[in-house]
Amino acid sequence: MLVVMEKGASEEAIVKVSKKLEERGFVVHLTRGVERTIVAGVGAPTRGTDSAIEAIGGVDRVIGIMTPYKLASREFQAEDTIIEIGDVAIGGKEIQIMAGPCAVESREQVLEIAQIVKASGAKIMRGGAFKPRTSPYDFQGLGEEGLKILKEAGEIYGLKIITEVMDPGDVERIAHYSDILQVGARSMQNFPLLRKLAKIDKPVLIKRGLSATIEEWIMAAEYVLSGGNKNVMLCERGIRTFETFTRNTLDLSAVAAVKQLTHLPVIVDPSHGTGKRKLVGPMALAGVTAGADGLIIEVHPKPSEALCDGPQSLTGEDFNELLSKIKQVANAVGREI
Ligand code: PEP
Ligand code: MN
Repeated sequence: MLVVMEKGASEEAIVKVSKKLEERGFVVHLTRGVERTIVAGVGAPTRGTDSAIEAIGGVDRVIGIMTPYKLASREFQAEDTIIEIGDVAIGGKEIQIMAGPCAVESREQVLEIAQIVKASGAKIMRGGAFKPRTSPYDFQGLGEEGLKILKEAGEIYGLKIITEVMDPGDVERIAHYSDILQVGARSMQNFPLLRKLAKIDKPVLIKRGLSATIEEWIMAAEYVLSGGNKNVMLCERGIRTFETFTRNTLDLSAVAAVKQLTHLPVIVDPSHGTGKRKLVGPMALAGVTAGADGLIIEVHPKPSEALCDGPQSLTGEDFNELLSKIKQVANAVGREI
């Protein structure tokens, strides 16, 4: 629940409200605005709490948040969350492009792609070192060696790095080598992993699970937020439907919906969302129109030789061509890249 204090309410009144909420099992988050303070009590509603709080002097009104997610909701925070990583802001006017290979294959491959990414003007490089593969016989990623290569490429080219974490035991190690930690679609409801990610100071990107509802997806973000990490972004990467022509069905209505329901930045992944190179461009543009704050796109200099997700990877040339179209669409919807 949100307890809106009266203008100029005393510190004593704020403490009283906070204590009362805590006594009743709520976790308290304070938001001090210019005029008013809002005391948010996050937890399961208990009978009589509303009236007990309303009776405290200095309280203007008590508002219940009806959704199961609280800290992620627009009611809790009306303004957009902007995640700052050095000079890169995610969730502001500028649309951020994250690009790179599905998997780190070698130092040469990563450095070649990093050069393409840097020259394109994009500021964030993607690449998986720990790969969640359906088959145990497929390439599983280079592990820590891959993380070192990514970090080196990031330092050489001045790019921020995003990479996937699957195992809760790897969180600290991956946070050491990267700027953003990616929770893959298959891990979206790995609750021990989400709890671990709540305790680091690096941003987290949460991909939507293969068959997750919008509410389940936001609840995954709520795990990280409620554990103390406020730098969370969501990524729509397609869901499983009856359609088999595309790898997944990119749910762009979910992008518009989560922008309305939450204050978190939303990223669109047209690569996994379609599985087909020719569809990546049109869906990237559609994602920007739907309100995405960023795009994550797979790029590989030789897609036919890629160890993972070649059919959906763009060449450097394709990628640069697409970026000029993204710029036009971004400008048309009042954004920039
Ligand atoms: C990836 O980004 O390479 C990946 C494995 O994505 P997802 O978790 O969306 O399948
Ligand atoms: Mn991939």
